[in-house]
Formats: sequence, C-alpha cells, structure tokens
Amino acid sequence: MNTGVVAADHLITDAAGVLSPGWMEISDGRIVALHQGRPQQEAPLLCEAGGVVMPAFVNAHAHLALGSFGGIGDDLPFAEWLRHAMIPAIERGTADREIFASGAAQSIAMLVAGGVGCVADSFLDPASVPLLAGSGMRAFFGLEVFGSRAESEDAFIAEFEEGHELPELGAPLMQLGHAPHTLFTCPPKVLTAVMAHARRRGLRCTLHVDESVEEHEFFTRGTGPLAEHYRREGVLGRYRCNASPVRQLADLGLLGPDLLAVHVVQADADDIALLAASHTPVVHCPRSNLMLACGIAPVAEMLAAGVTLALGTDSLASVPTLDMFEEMRTLLLVQRGQSRSTTGLGAIDAFHAATLGGARALGLDKQIGTLEAGKRADFVRLELPVVINERRDPVSRVVWEGQVEQVTHTFVDGRDLLAELSE
Ligand SMILES: [Zn+2]
Repeated sequence: MNTGVVAADHLITDAAGVLSPGWMEISDGRIVALHQGRPQQEAPLLCEAGGVVMPAFVNAHAHLALGSFGGIGDDLPFAEWLRHAMIPAIERGTADREIFASGAAQSIAMLVAGGVGCVADSFLDPASVPLLAGSGMRAFFGLEVFGSRAESEDAFIAEFEEGHELPELGAPLMQLGHAPHTLFTCPPKVLTAVMAHARRRGLRCTLHVDESVEEHEFFTRGTGPLAEHYRREGVLGRYRCNASPVRQLADLGLLGPDLLAVHVVQADADDIALLAASHTPVVHCPRSNLMLACGIAPVAEMLAAGVTLALGTDSLASVPTLDMFEEMRTLLLVQRGQSRSTTGLGAIDAFHAATLGGARALGLDKQIGTLEAGKRADFVRLELPVVINERRDPVSRVVWEGQVEQVTHTFVDGRDLLAELSE
C-alpha cells in the first residue's frame, strides 16, 4: 500500500520548514499535499501518528560491499589503512565474492534502519547492485575504475570503452554511473577518458578527491610515499605533480555538476572557488576523515562560497556505523572545534547536507530531499523521546538528539522498507 496519509506531531518539510502538527497525503508513492493540523478525513494511515516525520536521508558516499570489514581501519592512518588493511581485504573479497555480497546486505540493512532512503554506492565489484535493486532503496552505483597499474594506458582505455557497457537493471529507482577511484589510482589520461565516456551517456561520476595529506603532497609537490611508490613502479610520468587535485580536475575540464567530489579535505580557497564556479557538489564524510586522520574539510568556507554540500558515511571499513545522525553531529562539532565559532554553521546546514544536499548532488532534487507536493514519498518517521527540553525546534532536536534506534519507519516511493526488513 503506498497511498494514504502520514500524520506527525512535527512534519519537517525541509531544513527550514516544520508543520507542528502536520500531515501529508500520499498517492501512488507521490506526495500530493501537505497540511498543518491533524487529518480529518478517514484515510488509511501509512504509519502511526505522532513523532517526527522528515525527508529520508541521502547518504552520498558509501562502499556497501565493504560491510564485512568493520574495524579493519581502526587506529591506522590513511596510507597504512589503504596498504595494509584495504588491499588485503579486497583481495579476500575478490577471491570469495560472497564476502562482498554479505557485506552489502549488512550495509543496506543498516542504512534502512538508520532512515536512509537513497545511497550513492561505488565499488570495484558490483556485488551490491542486485541487492540494492531488490531492496527498494533509491540508489546510485558507480563501478570503480583504476588504471594506475595498467601496462598501457591506451590499451586500458580501449578495453574500458569496449567492455564498460552498463547492464540494463530494470530497477527504476537506481541510476548507474562511473566511479574513477581517485586521481592517483586513476591517472589523468584514463580519468579523462572515463569521464568523457560517462558524459557521452549522460552518466554521473563519483571520485575521491584530495582526501589525504599524502595525496595532496604528491600532486602539489611530487614528493612523499605516493611519489616514491609510482617512481618504483615506473609510472610517475603519468601524473602532473605541480597543482592541487581540484586545480588539475579544473584544467582537465572535468569539474561540473555531474561529478561528485568526495572528501576534498585538503582544499584551499582557490580550490573552493573552482568547485563553486563549476557547480561541482562536494560529499563530506567527516567521521571517515577523522578516523583515518586525514584532517578536517573546509566545509564552512565551501558553504559560504555556494558549493553544494552533501553528506556521506563512507564504508564500514573506515567508520563503525552508517549513521547519518552521527555524521551530522560530527560535521558541526569538528567545524566548531576548529573554528572556535558557532557562526556560519548550524543544525539547519547539517540537516540540509544530509537530505536536499545529497539529492542535489545526485541530480534527484526534483524528486526527493524535501517533503513537497509532487515529490516522491521518501520519508522517515522518528520517535524522539519525550523530555523536558528547551530545544524546541524539531530540526535541532533531530540533529543533536536523533538516534538510529528512534527510526520507526523508512519509506521510499511510498514503501515502508524498514517494515519489510523486519518481516
Ligand atoms: Zn570512499
């Protein structure tokens, strides 16, 4: 059943709008109308009244198939995590793909339980794709592309262009795209070919950008562990090492609204101006960046420059949970700790990044990200505890007090995926 009414004590329509109480009419998985007050008509209730109803979260960066590798990154800095934890884990999963499939199933269950209705997933193995298609979630999946170790870049590109036709999914809530891995694992020539291939087909790309200090040092100065590694491999000549990754993407003509730039931790003011001018969305993953000691992305500066900011968890190989409440709080707390200021970033900004920001980054803002007449019925219901609380604003309460355990329903396209999960 995806037709009926949803009534709540607080119906959060978007980061800046709340109907208290409020209700909305859903027909055939679409929001038809929103109203202040309590529903009068005798219509079927899609979920129990009361509580808080808000747009479902958009987790704009994850690698679902890594769900079996929780904890492998604990206490390792980025370069060691990549070399000594990730690469062996991926080799294990490649040898036994069931590890990736069960990891993806666990990740999807965690997302739905945590109020996420839409996820941008990318990985080198498409094990999560049939599971996502069957889950009822809205999703983007990008198959990762590397190329740094290819014997010949030209041969690699030819093989990619020949073999990289995306499957027909038959899953209307999923979009497929490309996921060139990083600028250092997918060198400029390959990256340019991959993105041109995507753009010819109108596909979106997701790319890890300027995540670690090591990456930044390599691209700006040509020194550090990455430079040594590529020199040993004899492929250093494939890279330009005198400008930041964002500047290099701009010079290659690769920035744009169809590129999700993930992390962008080390960006400076020039990089931020390039991202803003090109309307390139940034996916911020604050907990992953902190866990791996990558640093703190200049989020307040990005927002001030007008960059579209989305929020992602990254994978269970770098963070303990796929929890968007924690992600929103971490965003605010670390920015405030660093800037020693509460101005410029509020609960509204974190909520916006976790909902409409992600929808915008994925080109889905006409369909999801807010609760509006005409949009799809992707919403979450929370049961916030009744407490004597001076914090009256429901958006602030969701951001500062929200917990995964309080999510009672996760609807996508009018379907209660959380109820289906617990059946
Ligand atoms: Zn990632």
